[in-house]
Amino acid sequence: MSHVFPRHCHAQLPTAVGGEGIWLIDSEGRRYLDGSGGAAVSCLGHGDAEVTEAIKAQLDKLAFAHTGFLTSEPAEALADLLIAHAPGELDRVYFVSGGSEATEAAIKLARQYWVEKGQPERSRLIARRQSYHGNTIGALSAGGNEWRRQQFGPLLLDVSHIDPCYEYRDRQEGETPEEYGLRAAEALREEIERVGPETVMAFMAEPVVGATAGALAPAPGYFKRIREICDEYGILLILDEVMCGMGRTGTLFACEQDDVAPDILCIAKGLGAGYQPIGAMLCSAGIYDAIAKGSGFFQHGHTYIGHPVATAAGLAVLRAILDRNLLPQVQSRGATLQKALESRFGQHPNVGDIRGRGLFRGIELVADRGTKEPFDPSRKIAARLKKAAFAHGLICYPMSGTIDGRRGDHVLLAPPFIISDEEITLLVDRLDAAMQEVLGQG
Ligand code: PMP
Repeated sequence: MSHVFPRHCHAQLPTAVGGEGIWLIDSEGRRYLDGSGGAAVSCLGHGDAEVTEAIKAQLDKLAFAHTGFLTSEPAEALADLLIAHAPGELDRVYFVSGGSEATEAAIKLARQYWVEKGQPERSRLIARRQSYHGNTIGALSAGGNEWRRQQFGPLLLDVSHIDPCYEYRDRQEGETPEEYGLRAAEALREEIERVGPETVMAFMAEPVVGATAGALAPAPGYFKRIREICDEYGILLILDEVMCGMGRTGTLFACEQDDVAPDILCIAKGLGAGYQPIGAMLCSAGIYDAIAKGSGFFQHGHTYIGHPVATAAGLAVLRAILDRNLLPQVQSRGATLQKALESRFGQHPNVGDIRGRGLFRGIELVADRGTKEPFDPSRKIAARLKKAAFAHGLICYPMSGTIDGRRGDHVLLAPPFIISDEEITLLVDRLDAAMQEVLGQG
């Protein structure tokens, strides 16, 4: 009997014993095509020799030094390299151990900033309904995934949730994508006015929504208008790129494609690429200075912040993305994947939308293509698809999100950046086989 506490208590999981490129291997010798990089984590694939060598070298030198006393070479070098490539005024990096820690730190930093600036009445966070920002209480409060939130109600912070930018469902007939993007952004202004501008500290959003919406990219101009609204009311913009950052969408940071820069940016997953648990929060010089000149102390911390081995892994991963010129590869293979998905599933009666950027792609599944009616939750389409794909040797990330207060189903694909064209075909073949089993021929 296993003593590991799995998320699904009755799950009988195979034991992973190895990884090679885009493949994971279990103790029976079965090979699984890692079509979602776990959950958009393994951007370099498995068994990357340069990254593992960098980790070993750091371990031989120094495993741990508490950042209350000492900084470390890899933490300094990784912060420098991230800032050299970061958008806008981002100037400081706070290293944590994962995505929830990054978003949690971002919420606390935004709050402390306003307290230090002498505006303690700014305590409200505005976020979006179809979003996920992590599982710790603050991060879960920020997220708008009802399924994940439902049991924790009294413990959650009072966060305002506005509608996401969701072209497939909300763009009206006769409206251009640009017009829709501007209209969707106005939801933020309405909420700020409703709750009182002087009470709002920040707006938080994923540039390309991952786990709750299946690679949902914003309409053109949406985030530019969001930035303008934040500036107009003096509200901080926090972008959560835990899933969509670190090259996943074809640029190092997803927000580059929307031509906006946040005040605070969260990254994780692809930063460690699965080789080490690491996340980071980047903030602007203005925010850092307010605290440096105020109390001089960010009232936050975890034992493992800036861990030398984790930052050494992050540094090796970032160097690999840049030195191996992987970003153009993500763009071209991403386009290949989109095309392959469209040609295979574009006419499928249960496929409503195929979308995304780079190697971050999503398929929205619907009961009726014409009305866009989601499947009844009792059919558990996402869970069944995950199981069927796994039986076909494909790891993909089908999830139920929330659509109009009801759960809807989508499949998220986020393969390693090194996936070849042949492997993309294999991925689509296996997904097709799983879809046929679960949804029938059409
Ligand atoms: N933000 C986003 C956008 C995420 O996708 C996730 C993880 N799926 C998190 C935050 C939380 O990250 P972690 O699971 O590493 O705590």
